[in-house]
Amino acid sequence: MDSKKVSALEAYSFLEGGGELGKRTRLFNWAQTSVGAVETWPQSLLSLVSIILSSKFPMFLWWGNDLVQFYNDAYRPSLGIEGKHPKALGQKGHDCWPEIWPVIYPLMQQVLAGESVWQEDQLIPIYRNGHLEDVYWTFSYSPARDDKGKINGVLVVCNETTEKVIASKKLEESEKTLKNMILQAPVAMCILQGPSFVVETANKKMLELWGRTKEQVINKALFEGIPAARGQGFEQILKNVVITGETYSASEQKVSLVRNGKLEDVFVNFIYQALKEGDDSISGVLVVAVEVTQEIEARQRIELAEQRARLAINAAAIGTFDLDLETEKLITSERYDEIFGFPDARGHVDYVALIHPDDKEIRDKAFEVLRRTGRLQFECRIIRKDKSIRWIRIDGEIHKNDEGKYTRVIGVAIDITDLKYLIKQKDDFIGVASHELKTPITTIKGYTQVLEEMLKVNGDSAELSIISKLDKYVSKLTNLINDLLDATKMMSGHLQLNYSEFEFDELVNEISNDLQLTITKRIDIKCAAPGCFVRTDREKIEQTVTNLVNNANKFSPNAENIVVRTFRDGDQVVCEIEDFGIGIKEENAHKIFQQFVRIDNDLKNTFPGIGLGLYISSEIIKREGGKIYVRSKEGEGSVFSFSLPCIHEFQRIN
Ligand code: ADP
Repeated sequence: MDSKKVSALEAYSFLEGGGELGKRTRLFNWAQTSVGAVETWPQSLLSLVSIILSSKFPMFLWWGNDLVQFYNDAYRPSLGIEGKHPKALGQKGHDCWPEIWPVIYPLMQQVLAGESVWQEDQLIPIYRNGHLEDVYWTFSYSPARDDKGKINGVLVVCNETTEKVIASKKLEESEKTLKNMILQAPVAMCILQGPSFVVETANKKMLELWGRTKEQVINKALFEGIPAARGQGFEQILKNVVITGETYSASEQKVSLVRNGKLEDVFVNFIYQALKEGDDSISGVLVVAVEVTQEIEARQRIELAEQRARLAINAAAIGTFDLDLETEKLITSERYDEIFGFPDARGHVDYVALIHPDDKEIRDKAFEVLRRTGRLQFECRIIRKDKSIRWIRIDGEIHKNDEGKYTRVIGVAIDITDLKYLIKQKDDFIGVASHELKTPITTIKGYTQVLEEMLKVNGDSAELSIISKLDKYVSKLTNLINDLLDATKMMSGHLQLNYSEFEFDELVNEISNDLQLTITKRIDIKCAAPGCFVRTDREKIEQTVTNLVNNANKFSPNAENIVVRTFRDGDQVVCEIEDFGIGIKEENAHKIFQQFVRIDNDLKNTFPGIGLGLYISSEIIKREGGKIYVRSKEGEGSVFSFSLPCIHEFQRIN
């Protein structure tokens, strides 16, 4: 060092202050290094070291041929707790940094050649805290000149940026996680960035909701990517979110969008949430949306259906009820209360108490059926408080709760008093008319038979054939009138049955053989219930079998035969009449046992009848404790069956 020497006192005054490193620098035995004792230092080195020690910015100096090191307190933490400090002070560069020498030495050479170096967030792992650590630096290496202006060292002004880099890496990671979360979210999500709301990320659901492809929207301004969304108020809402930072949420918002090539109104629940940066500034908006169009349409359909049902209920003067089967709590409509003659709603028991004593059983039975089948259906009379009697019809359905348990019956009540009155008038009319018709018809039948006998004696065969045709039609008319009379008697509960005991097979054989004389079709009789006796009205059972065989004949115009079968089934005897005719549609099978029901089809007018035969037969069989039913397939024929209880041996003997 050939520069002007300073006195030791002067030199040390340069190095005053500077905290721990200041002290260490002063105490250090520089004479043992190539830099030499402090008092031999050139002015430039003293000034440099003085600046370094007093700087609050991390600074480091390599000086001289050995690149001997100086650094300050601000730099010291970068050397770790148990690392290079304090050994690094006065150490040769190469001895201190063997691990990074290949990286930093070329840089130093560049600087020593006169070119400054600047690097930002550079990873330079160093040994500290007991291990090699990844450390990031932003630093400048600049030439440090001696008193003659010759470059004799490298001044490092640096800043460790490890924390900043790690934080920004974490931020990057979390942004990545957010993006992934958005892409995989089960709801529509997207991120809009910047003042023109550029679509940075949008998941599949969001693209579906918009009806756009990735290419159409990603990295494009929102309203450029989805022009149809313009002018619906979303621009202002988004701007407000960015300005105020307040989250905006909307339910069932109507949005018009072009989807599948046409403009559609869709309904969406959505949230706009401001995306805040680390410094609390708002960089964009996170959008979360759920399309609820289907739900709203379903609700609108339900509302419409409810409205229609309400209209129908009001127009038909139908009362409605909702009965809790556990608590017996009953909710009724005004009309329901009105039907029962109450000015307002009452407890369940009050309504039940009005049921006519003779009809209470009907209601109890209907509730038994309800528990089995889930349907409630009955007609009964009620006696209102003012003593007036009304007929009502109840129709209901059982409902399950969330656990699948039957808990409620919801249904309707109609006042059918007027209808019942009309039915009674009709029945009375039919009863009177058929009764009045019966006498002259019986007389005509009598005269016909007398005439027939007379013509037989005279041997007038042409007239005889006319008279026997007349007799046949009079018999048909008589049967018809008898049917009408039977039906009216049944409806009014006045049908008299004359009981006798007889062997079932014997009766079925006898009628089938008799019918074979009047029917051209073959009747195959397969009686297989010998010894089965029944106690019932023989004439009525004859009438039932006759009716079923006649129907089988009538409704199978192209068939060759009819099968009549009997067999025993437990304590019942069953009679089956099978035909191979037109059959019955499944949906009509249950109807045909009702009065005046004739199946409406092309053949209706081909087969004469008034729809009473099966009604009478079924009423008789049911009254006698039996069952009547049909199995049929349209176009393939039908099997009508009825059963009756067999009487046991001992019952027959007694
Ligand atoms: P009717 O024969 O006087 O019409 P029924 O009460 O005996 O009255 O029968 C009612 C209806 O049931 C018939 O009109 C017909 O449509 C249907 N039906 C009855 N028996 C048969 C059958 N064996 N095959 C097809 N349809 C039948």
